[in-house]
Amino acid sequence: MSEIAIKSNDKVALNNPIKISYSKGQAFKACERKFRYQHLEIHAVDPKKPGLMPKNLAPALALGSHGHAIMEHAMKELQPKDFPYSQDDCILAANNAIVWGMQQPRGSRTPEIMKQIMHFLANSFPVMGWRIIAVEQEYMLPIGKDPVSGRDIVYPFTVDLVIELAGSIYIVDYKFAADDYSQDRIDIEPQIPGYIGAMRALGIKVVAGFYVFLRTRKMNDIEAQVVTKPCRPNDVRIQQSFKEHLMTTGKIIKVQNDPEWEPTRNAGPNCNYCDFKKVCAIELRGEDASLMKQIDFLPNDYGYEEL
Ligand code: SF4
Repeated sequence: MSEIAIKSNDKVALNNPIKISYSKGQAFKACERKFRYQHLEIHAVDPKKPGLMPKNLAPALALGSHGHAIMEHAMKELQPKDFPYSQDDCILAANNAIVWGMQQPRGSRTPEIMKQIMHFLANSFPVMGWRIIAVEQEYMLPIGKDPVSGRDIVYPFTVDLVIELAGSIYIVDYKFAADDYSQDRIDIEPQIPGYIGAMRALGIKVVAGFYVFLRTRKMNDIEAQVVTKPCRPNDVRIQQSFKEHLMTTGKIIKVQNDPEWEPTRNAGPNCNYCDFKKVCAIELRGEDASLMKQIDFLPNDYGYEEL
C-alpha cells in the first residue's frame, strides 16, 4: 500500500492504467464473490473487458441509468445558454430531454421519472443560481503504480454535474431511488467526499457538493419527491474517505495479481438483489455455471476497465 498516494495530475502518459473506481471499491467491500463476477471474470465474447454484466439490468439500476442519461441530455442543452438560465430555456431543455429519453431503448421507463425531472428543471433549477461548468465529466487521478505489473493505478470517476455557485465550485450527484438520504447517511456516504478529494488533488478547488434526489416512489407531493440536500464534508472526512478508497484499491490490486485468490461470500439481504445469485448458488453446490455465465451475461460495460 505504500506505493499508493495522491499525486498531482501531471500530464504524464499513463501506462495501460488499472482503473479502480468508487463503485468497484464499493462492490469489493460489499461481497468479494460478487466483485469477482462483476469485475474479473472473463466473457468469451470480449476477453478484453473483464467482468460479467447481466443481459437484463436490475430494474432500479436501469431506471437510474436512464434518468442520468436524460439529465445529461438536458444539462448539455442548457450549458451554452445565457446565464442565469431563463425558466423558458430550462423547460425547453427538460422537454427535449424527456422526448429524447422516450425514444431510447429504455424509453418506456421515462414516465416513472419525467415529472420529477420536469419539476427540478422548470421550478428549482432556474432559481438556484447554479451555472453549469461540466456535465458527466470523466476524471482520472493517478494514485500509484502496481509493483507487480508496473501498470499505473488510477482513480477514475465521473461527476454528474459540476457547477459554479456564487463564485465557488460544487459537484452534484443525482439519485434516482425511492427515498432521499437522511442527514446521518449523508454524513457517512463516502462518494461525494471522495470525489471532492480527488478533484482537489487534480487542482480543481471544489468547495462542497449537493445530492439531487429525484425520488421514484409514487407520491402526490412533488416538493417532497424532488429534494436537494447539501453535503459539506470537512477536510478530515474528505481525507478519510479517500484513504478508505486507497486501502480498498490496495486490496483489489493484490487479489487481481493473485490467480489463486478465492473470494469470500458475504451472504445476506443483499443476495436478494444480486444479479449473480443463480450463478452463486450453482457454484456453492459445487456445480459448473460457466454456460449460464456465457448465455445470461454480456462482457462488462461498466465504463472504465479495459485490458
Ligand atoms: S448472491 Fe450474495 S453471496 Fe452470492 S455473489 Fe451475490 S451478494 Fe455475494
